Amino acid sequence: MYLTRLIYASSKTEHCTDKGIEGILAAAERNNPKYGLTGVLCFNRKHFLQCLEGPRDPINTLYQRISSDSRHSRVTLVEYCATEQRFFDQWAMKYVPDSKKMQTLAFRYSDCNDFDPYRMSAASALAFLQAVSSQ
Ligand code: FAD
Repeated sequence: MYLTRLIYASSKTEHCTDKGIEGILAAAERNNPKYGLTGVLCFNRKHFLQCLEGPRDPINTLYQRISSDSRHSRVTLVEYCATEQRFFDQWAMKYVPDSKKMQTLAFRYSDCNDFDPYRMSAASALAFLQAVSSQ
């Protein structure tokens, strides 16, 4: 099955508490390795930007499940493609919370100062996620 990458943007809803974020990360740790999925989840307390990479069928299944999760809304597909390599292969789901670095990189990879993943192209979103998840 083809190695696939999926990137989407979404917005937190009032149903998403700190416990909700912990639950998301626990589900990712529990489920993603079983299906060969890796990725990164960036969250600034307002928007999410997530990259999922792995075999196509589990990515599709997970994206359907994620799309109907009430902890976020405005789930918007940014990129879906077959790819030749993983960029986040060390992590079942690397979590990147809000930081000064995130704001600096948001300016580099979008047309505004604030982290707003709806304003990033697919190429910018991937480059942003690679930069923000590196040490
Ligand atoms: P249950 O209903 O208890 O169990 C899930 C069942 O589905 C298990 O049998 C499991 O083996 C199976 N399963 C799990 N994943 C897959 C798959 N990919 N393909 C086929 N079968 C599968 N959840 C994640 O698991 N990973 C994430 O990276 C992730 N990211 C999220 C990001 C955001 C912003 C949000 C809002 C939610 C995210 N979630 C993620 C949570 C997701 O929406 C579901 O709540 C969660 O996947 C349910 O998992 P569970 O183990 O609690 O579900």
